[in-house]
Amino acid sequence: MGRSVSDFLATEARLGTYNYEPIGVVLSRGEGIWVWDIDGNRYLDCLSAYSAVNQGHCHPKILAAMMEQASKLTLTSRAFHNDQLAPFYEEIAALTGSHKVLPMNSGAEAVESAIKSVRKWGYEVKGVPEGQAEIIVCADNFHGRTLGIVGFSTDPAARDNFGPFAPGFRIISFGDSEALEEAITPNTVAFLVEPIQGEAGVIIPPAGYLARVREICTARNVMLILDEIQTGLGRTGKLLAEQHDGIEADVTLLGKALSGGFYPVSAVLSNTEVLGTLKPGQHGSTFGGNPLACAVARAALRVLVEEGMIENAAVQGERFLAGLKSIRANIIREVRGRGLMMAVELHPEAGGARRYCLALQTRGILAKDTHVHTIRIAPPLVITSDQVDWALERIEATLKQDLS
Ligand SMILES: *Cc1c(COP(=O)(O)O)cnc(C)c1O
Repeated sequence: MGRSVSDFLATEARLGTYNYEPIGVVLSRGEGIWVWDIDGNRYLDCLSAYSAVNQGHCHPKILAAMMEQASKLTLTSRAFHNDQLAPFYEEIAALTGSHKVLPMNSGAEAVESAIKSVRKWGYEVKGVPEGQAEIIVCADNFHGRTLGIVGFSTDPAARDNFGPFAPGFRIISFGDSEALEEAITPNTVAFLVEPIQGEAGVIIPPAGYLARVREICTARNVMLILDEIQTGLGRTGKLLAEQHDGIEADVTLLGKALSGGFYPVSAVLSNTEVLGTLKPGQHGSTFGGNPLACAVARAALRVLVEEGMIENAAVQGERFLAGLKSIRANIIREVRGRGLMMAVELHPEAGGARRYCLALQTRGILAKDTHVHTIRIAPPLVITSDQVDWALERIEATLKQDLS
């Protein structure tokens, strides 16, 4: 007899830190858009590990690249060169039109690395007086969980009792380019923003916002850092979400799907002299740029492009969003999305999104509630039309259920 769900949950509760409240399903297998629990029940994964498995679970080509590299060489540290790093640089630079790449591991590390390098750029290139660099960020941002990052979060749960925090950040409201103009001072080195706020509940800024932000940053010599850790790599129907607005960030942050979910791989990409300010000994990571990570990332990028996943995200995203918008259920307050990054926000009277996520689970769909009233829907980018329709049928039935 295998272990039961309640046994797994009890052991996690006893020995684990209670910093998550997962839905009570214990998964043991995944393939494409599907995951299976320990009892053999199959679910359509509508979270995709927060968009880290855009390429689908256990993509065979990424798996093969990982297995092959793992049997050859996994870690050298950056004290020596390895034969996967240069090709990774070439391929990611060519794909994204970047001039410099800094490989890291988690998304938060990429954000921290960007903050360090734009500050350095501020002092050494822009001429900001020592210790005065300012970075502008947005309310309701999500950039990760390190001390540096939670210090400029506006979410009390992320910040409370973790201080003191580093100074040098100013918070403005998201989607308000005038607020950005007003907040910039001669000491401002960068504006850090998500093209679409994912964790905040898939908040899409007003049309023209990013283009205006780009103009302001250029005019005021402020580096525009786009955190595309969640929006990037096809999720919104373009390789990078910035392409919807026809702009280019000075610094772009990638993570999550950069490995297709196999391994933590992140990267800072820059088109300017920003990353050029880092000199030997000034920044690093034992695992950053290791051959296993590079081989996995190369395969993850290759399948994304070669298998048409970005175009599929655009097509299926349109189908999925139209389907969600056509659902007539009293509890729905708003449906929004771009590509396969979607959200259904419920009226407060619905009593919270969690109960609907639990109801979706019984119909074979795993989705995650966010900010109490919102159900986020973001399946892997390999979903087909039939599968979108299959999901829509179940989502519609669930949202029409009276669970209050
Ligand atoms: C997930 C996420 C991060 C943090 O990535 P980790 O790998 O969890 O550190 C940063 N920014 C955005 C927009 C994210 O969605």
